[in-house]
Parts: sequence; structure tokens; C-alpha cells
Amino acid sequence: MQKNRHSMLSNLMVVSGASLTIGLILGYPGWATSLGLIGWSLLQINRFNKLMDWFHKNDDQIELPETTGHWGELFDELSRVQRRQHTRETRLGNIIKRFQDSTSALQDAIIIIDKNNNLEWWNKSANRLLGLDDKTDQGKPIMNLLRDPRFVRYYKRGQYNDPITLPSPAHNDLKIQYQITRFGDADRLLVARDISRIIRLEQTRQDFVANASHELRTPLTVIRGYLETFLDQDLPRPLIRGLGSMQQQARRMENLVSDLLLLSRLEASHQVSDEQPIQIQNVIQHIMEGAEQLAQEKGHKFSLNIDPIHDLSGQEIELHSAFSNLVYNAVRYTPAGGNIKVSWWVDEQGGHFSVKDNGPGIESIHLPRLTERFYRVDESRSSASGGTGLGLAIVKHVLARHHGQLTIKSKVGKGSTFACHFPAENVGVRPEPGENTYEEQKLMGFQQVEDSKDNQTTP
Ligand code: ADP
Repeated sequence: MQKNRHSMLSNLMVVSGASLTIGLILGYPGWATSLGLIGWSLLQINRFNKLMDWFHKNDDQIELPETTGHWGELFDELSRVQRRQHTRETRLGNIIKRFQDSTSALQDAIIIIDKNNNLEWWNKSANRLLGLDDKTDQGKPIMNLLRDPRFVRYYKRGQYNDPITLPSPAHNDLKIQYQITRFGDADRLLVARDISRIIRLEQTRQDFVANASHELRTPLTVIRGYLETFLDQDLPRPLIRGLGSMQQQARRMENLVSDLLLLSRLEASHQVSDEQPIQIQNVIQHIMEGAEQLAQEKGHKFSLNIDPIHDLSGQEIELHSAFSNLVYNAVRYTPAGGNIKVSWWVDEQGGHFSVKDNGPGIESIHLPRLTERFYRVDESRSSASGGTGLGLAIVKHVLARHHGQLTIKSKVGKGSTFACHFPAENVGVRPEPGENTYEEQKLMGFQQVEDSKDNQTTP
């Protein structure tokens, strides 16, 4: 451009010089110079108009006219820029087309949501799986289209580490797994996957386990009944030993069957339907009464630290089962003369139940897998203890259904602490006559209740 400006200036000087010279020869230097400058200006205006015409047509396909001089250089430069831009646009267009082709081929629905929670773009599968319409849904709020309250809650909470599975808004029989990822300037990418087949397979597996366990129950009851009758008779000693061992194994199988049945029931739904305020103090006392005899046989010492006024909202049988699994594990795995501490306390984070023992402890490599079905740290130790291998799997499922979490801390040779943590909104102070009911407290929020009754226990 700098070069062009110079060439334009020298061009003007040449025209003025030439017309002045001709004017001097002809004896009219003023007229000749003026005419030369007017001619030069008209030529510039003409070229400028051509350039403006080209700009206004704004069509990539129209070539700039051929010219010489500084205008020619300018036109060439603009043509080069135009060609470069055209190549870049074609390349970007190809990339977008390939991206659209590949996302159309995807079975999963992909939706881009802008920072105002409106739909910006989606692929073809989103139309099929979620019933989106290319013509009418563009720019609409996502929550107008995916209205399920569970999705709205998930979307608003903003914690997208885990996906959520819900029926499709377009086809009720399809089960869709939604996963959101944030990107750019508060935009979101929503991936929706049809997992109906996986869920059907999982259901078949659960049904099989539940049916098989159920079918095993009756023959086992008959076998155990006969064994009990035989053992009541006056039999020779070797026979009594054999029958005793058979009875022990039959009892173990019964425990296994009932744990499998409980697990299948827990797996059937992810949420407790009949939630009620549970007096945790009573649940713990009941478990202790059952565990007392076994603990005495092993010479264990129990210590309790129980918050007597805070209740937990949930399902009593399930919570009883989860807590007793932890207490019985501590009793069974701690060598004779151990100390076991059972605690229930409430703080700002929520309610916590823990069982601490000074038993053999567990190596850290086992901890992540401990809640898997039939996972055992030490096969011989577990078989001797009579466990089914399903105890901690049951605990994990019960806690998931109560929005709780299990934490395990353990040191080899020092002992283990198994703790269940429940969210604050599931905990409340047991009302005294005339006070707010538990449900009212839940609505008021845990903190207010805490302020009004400052009485809590920590282990
Ligand atoms: P099991 O019926 O075999 O006890 P669980 O699922 O209850 O099955 O426990 C899984 C494994 O975790 C057990 O086999 C045992 O090795 C280990 N475990 C559980 N609780 C304790 C504990 N308090 N101390 C040491 N090991 C434990």
C-alpha cells in the first residue's frame, strides 16, 4: 500500500509536469495544467467507481477488471486476497460438511447448548431419539424440550461427572443416558445415548439371579428341616459331625440366597419409595442386641457414641441391613478381645454412621474393589467367618438408594473404619410433642433446626 501511495504521487507529478510543459509550449500553461489534472482525476474516479461496483456486487465469482498502473496493482492485490479467502472458506466449508456428515452418522444424539441454555445445534440422531424438530426448535430453551424434572434438576445442579438415565421424551420405551460437558464460554455439549438394550440385558440378568435364588429357597428349607430332625435323634458320633457340617453349610447357602434376593430387590430401583424418619438410635440398639452374643464369645468390647435426637429419613429394613453388615464384619474379622466403636453423629455435612475396629486391617490395594460382589481380601479368612461375600455390595446399594456414600479407612495391623455418610437434607431432629414434624423440618432446612436445638455428638 505504501508503494502504491508513492506510485500514485509520482503519477500525479508526471501528469502535472507533462501538462505544464505542453502548456508552456502552447503558451497556455494554466489551462493545460488544469486540463491535465482534470483528466487525471476523471481517470481516478472511473477506477474508483469500478472498485466500488465490485465491492457492492459482493460476489466472489466476479473478477476485478484488468487495469494498469497503481490501480492495477491494487486490483491484483485485492484479487489475491479474494482468492485466498475463497480457498479458506472452501476448506472451512469442507471441514463443517465432514463434521456434519460424521455427526449424522453417529447413533448418539449430540446437542450444543449456548450460555443462555438455548439449543444452538444438534445432529440427526437428536431428532430421532429426543424428537427435536430442525424447523421449530432452533434457539428454544433446552428445558422446554427436555422437561422431565429429574433432567431439569441434573441440568441446573451443574455437576456433570456422572450421567443420568431417563426415558426419552419422544419414545417412552427408550431409555436415554444423558451426559453433559461444558466447553467454551459457558456453552454445553449434551450427548444422549440410547441404552435401552443394555438396560434390558441387565434386567434379564437381575431377573435370572432373583428367580434362581427364589427357586433355591424351597429345597434348602426342606434340606435344613430334615437335617434338624436328624440331629435331634440319638445318632452315632461320626454321623452327628457330618450332619452338623451339612447343617452349617445349608445355613450358609440360605444366607447367600437371602443376600442375593435382597441385592436384586435393591437393584430393581435406584430410589427408596417409602421413605420415613428412622430412629437410628433404636436401629443401632437392635443390631447391638443381635451382635452381643457373638461379640461376647470372641471377648470383644463394644463402645457406642450415638446422637439420640437426630433421625434419618430412609427405609428402616435396608438401613438395618447395611449397618448390621458393617457391625457383624467388625465382630467377625477382629481377632478375639478386640475393641469396636459404633457411632452415629450429625454435622453440617449431614448424618454419619461409622464402625471402627482394631482388627487386622485391609491393604490399600483391596479397598477400591471391596464393595464388588464376592470380592474377598483373604478367601480362607472370609470362609472361616461364614460371610457370603455380598455384605459390602449390599451396603453400597443401600447407601446409593439413600443418596449416601461409603468410605473405608484401613491400616494393616491397626484396624478399619467403615463409615456411611448421608446428606444433610435427609437428617432431622426428632420432634417433641407440639414441635414441627420431621417433614416440616425437612422443608425448613437442616441448618435452622440445628440452630434451634444445639445438641449434637461427634465421635
Ligand atoms: P463377607 O461376607 O465375605 O464378609 P463383605 O462384602 O461383607 O463379604 O466383605 C468383603 C471383604 O472385606 C471380606 O471378605 C473381608 O475380607 C473384608 N472386610 C470387611 N470388613 C472387614 C473388617 N472390619 N476388617 C477386615 N476386613 C474386612
